[in-house]
Amino acid sequence: MDPKGLPIQSIREELALALSAGRRFVLEAPTGSGKSTQVPQMLADMPGCGVSGQIVVLQPRRVAARMLARRVAWERGVKLGAEVGYQVRFERVFGRDTRILFVTEGVLLRRMLDDPELKGVGAVLFDEFHERHIYGDVTLAQALILQRGRRPNLVLGAMSATLDGAPLREFLAPCAHLRCEGRMFPVDIRYAGSPAVSVRDEEPVWDRAAREAERVLREEPEGDMLIFMPGAFEIRRTIEALQGRSAAKGCDILPLHGELPPEAQDAAIDPSARRKIIVATNVAETSLTIDGVRVVIDGGLARIPAYDPQRGIDTILVKKISRASADQRAGRAGRTAPGVCVRLWSQRDHEQRAAREEAEIRRIDLSEVLLFLKTAGVDDLAAFPWFEPPEEKSMARALTLLSDLGALDHRGRITPVGRRMAAFPLHPRFARMLMEGERLGCLRTAALVAALSQDRSIVMPMDNGRERAAREDFLRGYVPDLDDSDFFMDIAAFAAAAEARFDMGFCRKWGIHATGARTAARLFEQLCGTARGAGLNPVDSAASGENIRRAILAGFSDQLALRTDRATLRCAVVHDRRGELRRETLVEAPLLVAAEIEERNVRGDVGVLLSRNTAVQESWLEEMFPEDFSRTREVVFDESQRRVSARARRMFRNLVLEDSQSGEPTPDEAAPLLAAEVLAGRLILKQWDAEVERWIARCNFVARHFPDYGIHAIGEAEKTLLIEQVCYGAIGYKDIKDRPVMPQLRDWLAAGQEPLLDKCAPERVELPRGIKARVRYEPDGRAFLAATVQQLYDAPGQILLGGRVPVVFEILAPNRRPVQITADLAAFWKGAYEDVKKQQKGRYPRHEWR
Ligand code: ADP
Ligand code: MG
Repeated sequence: MDPKGLPIQSIREELALALSAGRRFVLEAPTGSGKSTQVPQMLADMPGCGVSGQIVVLQPRRVAARMLARRVAWERGVKLGAEVGYQVRFERVFGRDTRILFVTEGVLLRRMLDDPELKGVGAVLFDEFHERHIYGDVTLAQALILQRGRRPNLVLGAMSATLDGAPLREFLAPCAHLRCEGRMFPVDIRYAGSPAVSVRDEEPVWDRAAREAERVLREEPEGDMLIFMPGAFEIRRTIEALQGRSAAKGCDILPLHGELPPEAQDAAIDPSARRKIIVATNVAETSLTIDGVRVVIDGGLARIPAYDPQRGIDTILVKKISRASADQRAGRAGRTAPGVCVRLWSQRDHEQRAAREEAEIRRIDLSEVLLFLKTAGVDDLAAFPWFEPPEEKSMARALTLLSDLGALDHRGRITPVGRRMAAFPLHPRFARMLMEGERLGCLRTAALVAALSQDRSIVMPMDNGRERAAREDFLRGYVPDLDDSDFFMDIAAFAAAAEARFDMGFCRKWGIHATGARTAARLFEQLCGTARGAGLNPVDSAASGENIRRAILAGFSDQLALRTDRATLRCAVVHDRRGELRRETLVEAPLLVAAEIEERNVRGDVGVLLSRNTAVQESWLEEMFPEDFSRTREVVFDESQRRVSARARRMFRNLVLEDSQSGEPTPDEAAPLLAAEVLAGRLILKQWDAEVERWIARCNFVARHFPDYGIHAIGEAEKTLLIEQVCYGAIGYKDIKDRPVMPQLRDWLAAGQEPLLDKCAPERVELPRGIKARVRYEPDGRAFLAATVQQLYDAPGQILLGGRVPVVFEILAPNRRPVQITADLAAFWKGAYEDVKKQQKGRYPRHEWR
């Protein structure tokens, strides 16, 4: 399409006007209307409006930055990298005279560290601002501070197809608000999902996509098709499924995602003579427009990276996209003519989806961005003008990591090491690893490890076990101790590939990703360059395997893991986390650090996987983090052995490294634990019998009614003490189970108190006819005596214990049923007795009835 005819051209004058009045604008225009390609050119070509210097366009995606630069260069008839260029993390295609520069991620923020005034930059455009990538958010805030201060002339613009613009306009106020309607043809949206959608249980999304694609290809004879899938894996599967369908014959089926080589990405966008089916990630949602699309098949899913501050792990899970994303995707079908969009989910599912995606700042690891801000002198993060502030918890977690890595001091200010770390376009962990590498004399290899870690491993998975073993043997020729670190495998593969000059055939034979290796080589050179720029010498003077592993440990000590057993891959990880080693790892050591701890979907299941592992030694930890070790001695009751044992624990932070038996517990340690088991009823003292309970009841009776005698009641606490005394000196159950209890009880009383017990709380009371009736002492302080009517004839009208407390009679009929409870026998004889006698005499005529 001719750029001159794009809808965006209609705002040219308005834009010029806005820029002569102020320096900030927000532009809302539909996808494909020309924002990304035309607005930078308008600013560059606008006569007299005063945008002098470079126009930097911040893009959320690398693919988009590269392709837009290529397109704009083509439109202007210039070579890519001259007037128009791009810079993404680890890739720079621009020159001294570059006027329009597309960038991603931290590129601009980093530039602000070296050049806080952004000399030479005339305008910064924040494209696709609705995506709310973290670097967009933070760079916008920093740029705003700069514009309000030393660079009032700097032009700032935010652009998007789907902007909920009010909060942004408020944030940027005063600012111009530009809109352009653009052409949009109607899109017929169809739902092709079963009502009960669960991501796991159904037919795979690629098979359903292929089936729907075939149907629509037959129904709609014209126009290209765009299929959305969450990632490279699903895209491959979809293409395989499509290739088997007859309706797709004669179509070009093309993948489009960030991991493809540039030529393949270009092929997906470039016009083609045949009907095209493009299978893309959400890079095609708004960032890139593909002309000629009339049909969209939307799988409804995306891989969404996030960070879980609670557990301290990164997650990359396939999630359902929001309604806003789905609408954008559908819109891709209606750019050139009326279109069709098939959503592979139900309308009900659709209504339950989130309205829009959550901003990155609310979900990803903040440590890299915070290291920036701290380096840029933003000490008070709470006062920073966040467009949307991050969560306190994520912020705290990132700051803790930065101070663990030594980048911040105890007051949260940047340290000299932190400043040097910030120079590297790496996660602070890898930057820290480089610092340690420099200290140990292996900076060059550490930089190689960092370079090899920025993408997937160049050592490709191999299903065939024999081939895998052969590769291992071969690579051991480069690095013998492959089992010490998964990174060593990468280093060996890299060395082999480099030696073969990254020859495709050679790399394929050994399962090495040639393009990945070549990219890593470039990265490696750049990191060495950055090191030199930061005054470090990227050479190896002592690059032993051990030193490299120590350097890795420095960056990842908070991802230290200990295998829980030898039989499984399970590990306990510092900070109360658990996970499982990735199956492919060669590291067998019990103690290791995992450079990646991620929750991800693995063949339909979600699990926490530890990968890129490195074996470490406890003595290194001791040298590096002496204050993070602690020893505890713990005495516990071992249920299986039914005995108390003493355990010594050695901990690193809160990870138990060692837990072993440590000598015998002392009597003072063992007795309370045994007593606790007895009290809980899990151990039985055989001699703690009814007699003991009765003795205690008597004691408590005297204590309650005769306080003047100085006898102490025996409550729960006293019982515990008594049991402890019984257990004293024992260690196991076998020592205590037959121990006598009464002697301890007797000791409870002072000398001379035992006769008081017999006097005031006798075990039995003598009734007429020589009957010795047992007295029952209840916890409520009453003393009961149960006897039949006949046994009580001739008994005194009242019995006072210790001359003070009346016994309560439970008067029983001959069948031993109670007929009356009273302390006053005399009153009974006079009162109720007559009735009792009348009733019972007939039934028990042979008993005596007076
Ligand atoms: P917006 O940013 O508003 O979505 P763009 O500036 O990216 O729009 O694209 C404007 C138009 O330029 C598109 O509709 C498309 O026709 C054309 N275009 C953009 N990039 C390319 C490309 N790489 N190849 C072919 N055409 C392109
Ligand atoms: Mg765009």
